[in-house]
Amino acid sequence: MARTAPLSTAAWSNWAGNQRSTATAILRPRTVADVTEAVRSAVADGARVRPVGSGHSFTPVARTDDRRIELTDLDTTVRIDRERRLVTVPAGMPLHRLNALLAQNGLAMPNLGDIDAQTIAGAISTGTHGTGAAYGCLSTFVEALTLVTGTGEVLRCSADEHPDVFAAARVSLGALGVLTEVTLRCVDAFTLRAHERPAPLTEVMADLPALLARHDHVEFYWFPYTDRVQVKTNDRVPADDRPLPRWRGWLDDELLSNTVFGGACRLGRAVPALAPTISAVSARALTERTYTGRSDAVFCTPRRVRFVEMEYGLPRAALPEALAALRRIVDGLPFKVLFPVEVRFTAPDDIWLSHGYGRESAYLAVHQYVGMPYEPYFRAFERVATALDGRPHWGKLHWQTAAELAETYPRFKDFQTLRTHLDPHRVLTTPHLTHLLGP
Ligand SMILES: Cc1cc2nc3c(=O)[nH]c(=O)nc-3n(C[C@H](O)[C@H](O)[C@H](O)COP(=O)(O)OP(=O)(O)OC[C@H]3O[C@@H](n4cnc5c(N)ncnc54)[C@H](O)[C@@H]3O)c2cc1C
Repeated sequence: MARTAPLSTAAWSNWAGNQRSTATAILRPRTVADVTEAVRSAVADGARVRPVGSGHSFTPVARTDDRRIELTDLDTTVRIDRERRLVTVPAGMPLHRLNALLAQNGLAMPNLGDIDAQTIAGAISTGTHGTGAAYGCLSTFVEALTLVTGTGEVLRCSADEHPDVFAAARVSLGALGVLTEVTLRCVDAFTLRAHERPAPLTEVMADLPALLARHDHVEFYWFPYTDRVQVKTNDRVPADDRPLPRWRGWLDDELLSNTVFGGACRLGRAVPALAPTISAVSARALTERTYTGRSDAVFCTPRRVRFVEMEYGLPRAALPEALAALRRIVDGLPFKVLFPVEVRFTAPDDIWLSHGYGRESAYLAVHQYVGMPYEPYFRAFERVATALDGRPHWGKLHWQTAAELAETYPRFKDFQTLRTHLDPHRVLTTPHLTHLLGP
């Protein structure tokens, strides 16, 4: 196992560039036994270890100034049970590699988020989700997992083996152990038809229950300072259904997420007074379009414009109130907001620290272009979201503490008890985790 790395590689920053740290060592285990050894050595040395994925969290959740464990070289055997649609992969595999592997075998993930750059372990550890009223977060597709705990014990967990650990470890911020292998319940490969259209916000909100009932996956982007949204629905269709390639929407992709949008953001940062006009022009420039494609290519889009983000999962009924408050917040800020607000939906689940634990959720995500002020905006929205019993996304900026989080997660104390059992020496903790979960 690679042990102490030179300082240049020990320096780390996340995708957004708002979290930086320098580890004392980088550990790249090749086997599960190496992971056990890494954990036990850290305990013996009074040090700490932090597993990291691809660094796509905005919070310090993957940050460490102690020992960093990267799972990139951990090569557990890939096993595919085509009949039962169960696929077992190394936990550090990036989602884009997983998607390619599944496609080669006629399979797919039932749902995905906006991008495919995260590792499987990283994505499930923070409750990463896509949209779809009948779909939980990605962790709900986990059928079993292998965890090296804070004592170096190797636990295989599922609904039948260590069910409590299974209920907690599927969203556990790296606090219960190092995930080494994950078994995912997949579905047969499928084609999605995406339909995107501009619409008035009021119309979409009035039609929301019907919209969610009619489509497999619904999301929309609200453009600040306007009453306009871009609605996106994805539906499963036969593979030969109206095969419109994605490039026909190049301008829309670029407007919403990449080069053109990056230019607009730079202009808005240089001349903030233009932000409302830029938002209105962006909202008007987006057109209606329909395209079909392999599910993962439709779910995921490359994101090249850097931003910071906060996202809250709310009880779904609270969405109208949260959106109305957000509009007032944006209008009252002493600076301008350059990014649209993203709204998504998920089904309830039973994972202890999942944002969707026990309830239907609406997610509201606020963004700001890198280099622009964001804290007063995010903090004001956080006050609204917490008053509505919102739960912050574990990978996105927020200022919640253990005492506050305990109020909104019914199984929070059970998680803390399990954490003490699995990591009695707190070898897996960091200052951020202490803030979130307690000492
Ligand atoms: C451009 C962009 C788009 C995004 N889109 C979405 C989206 O659509 N939906 C959504 O919900 N989120 C989204 N996110 C957030 C992202 O999915 C999460 O922050 C996710 O956790 C990042 O995964 P990662 O592999 O980068 O993990 P990291 O950020 O590196 O780590 C996240 C957590 O996982 C833990 N971890 C990593 N590996 C292991 C392991 N082997 N064992 C135990 N713990 C481990 C880390 O300790 C840390 O606590 C987006 C982020 C960005 C930057």
